[in-house]
Amino acid sequence: MRIILGQVFLTIGTTGTPERPATDLGFLLHKHPDKAQTYPTSHGSAHVFYPEASAERCTAALLLEVDPVALVRRGKGKGRGGAPDAALAQYVNDRPYAASSLLSVALAAVFKSALGGVCRAMPERAESPLPLRIEVPALPARGGAELVHRLFAPLGWTRVEVTAVPLDEEFPAWGDSRYVRLLLEGELRLADALRQLYVLLPVLDDAKHYWVAPDEVDKLLRAGEGWLADHPERALITRRYLSHRWGLTRQADQALELVRLAESDDLDVESVDNAVDESTDTEEKPVPLAGRRRTAIIDALRAAGASRVLDLGCGQGQLVQALLKDVRFTEIVGVDVSMRALTIASRRLKLERMGERQAGRVTLRQGSLTYTDKRLAGYDAAVLSEVVEHLDLPRLPALEYAVFGAARPGTVLVTTPNVEYNVRWETLPAGHVRHRDHRFEWTRAEFRDWAGKVAERHGYTVRFEPVGPDDPEVGPPTQMAVFTRTDAITTTGTTEKSKEAEAA
Ligand code: SAH
Repeated sequence: MRIILGQVFLTIGTTGTPERPATDLGFLLHKHPDKAQTYPTSHGSAHVFYPEASAERCTAALLLEVDPVALVRRGKGKGRGGAPDAALAQYVNDRPYAASSLLSVALAAVFKSALGGVCRAMPERAESPLPLRIEVPALPARGGAELVHRLFAPLGWTRVEVTAVPLDEEFPAWGDSRYVRLLLEGELRLADALRQLYVLLPVLDDAKHYWVAPDEVDKLLRAGEGWLADHPERALITRRYLSHRWGLTRQADQALELVRLAESDDLDVESVDNAVDESTDTEEKPVPLAGRRRTAIIDALRAAGASRVLDLGCGQGQLVQALLKDVRFTEIVGVDVSMRALTIASRRLKLERMGERQAGRVTLRQGSLTYTDKRLAGYDAAVLSEVVEHLDLPRLPALEYAVFGAARPGTVLVTTPNVEYNVRWETLPAGHVRHRDHRFEWTRAEFRDWAGKVAERHGYTVRFEPVGPDDPEVGPPTQMAVFTRTDAITTTGTTEKSKEAEAA
């Protein structure tokens, strides 16, 4: 028995002129507009044909026939408990005509070269944006039209239209199905558009892929090139694409974080920080804000009596270097997601040439602060200097948990820009943040609100200190929160460590 379920899943159209005919799409897709072609896929067959093909307008359609028998045969032994048949049959029956992971696999198989941006016949055409119109008539969308919009809107399309598909056209009262019709219009490179679909269709379906394997991470990174690292919904995309497999998601996320940082191409301490603070007392040699911040941090660490310290998001290692100069800091661990920053840090510290004793005090480690890490537990203090604002707000709770919930050092210092002060930076255009990579900058009230809640949730107390001149109107350029774990405070209000330090 062979049941064929066929339906147009996707159309890709473009417009053209006599000089640049729309039928060039055939070259770019590597599919001739005059022929209907059929390709076997692992789960049935895929057909490509052109409902229209003129110099002005050309549209290619991809139709998929799912062969449930092939699907089940392939799935054997791969499913949970080795009995996947029923579940797989269900998987197909539920989705007789919808775009899904299967479409995404077919898309990659049928348009492999186009997805890779390869076109020997017209390389420059493949490299340049085309006026595209893409339609997916029935897209299963967990999260609904709103999520579909959130996923496609940041990707350069001028029109993203998402319409709910009613359960039954004749009985609108039955309400909407879980499918939407998606229409995208805009000028994009064909390869980019196909890569987005390749990743986002299964993300929206969010059904189990039975074939998620470790090389899916590589596939995701390749298909996500140029658009995923910076996508506001990156976390959701990687999680769903990798079928909620935590290990794989983490791997992809770290890699993407590196891509994002490399793209922002600027790991230097924020440029305004290096500008000399004009309001400094003229008698004194003016100190750049970054230097003032390090001094404030080191003072706070000393006051807390900390000797084993984590520098989380250590960047190029300036603070680690300063901490090494004080022997009371017996163990200093710098953590950063960026390998490039760590390499620079290691050079700055001259780690290879350091004596054994000195080298024994310092460790640089690559890691992402949005994941818990057992090796970070048990330290006296952790510093997050100008780090939180580099994370997308939705990722902040993950960092909060990793630091305050899991690592739980006795003291946590968090510094971040005070956005109110930005009006005082002459070089900063109004309404701008201080660094391209800043995802947000907080007012004093916003920072206090966040810090207060974090302290309450995790059993810490918190106080705030200004860094830099405390302007009567707008406050200081940098704000610092000093968190102290409640069970590390003795009745006199000092920490055990600082009592020891005082006694010594
Ligand atoms: N603490 C340094 C660097 C601040 S720049 C200073 O005060 O000068 C922010 C740093 O946070 C960068 O080095 C960046 O690589 C790092 N970072 C951003 N997101 C991170 C994450 N999720 N995990 C670990 N480090 C991260």
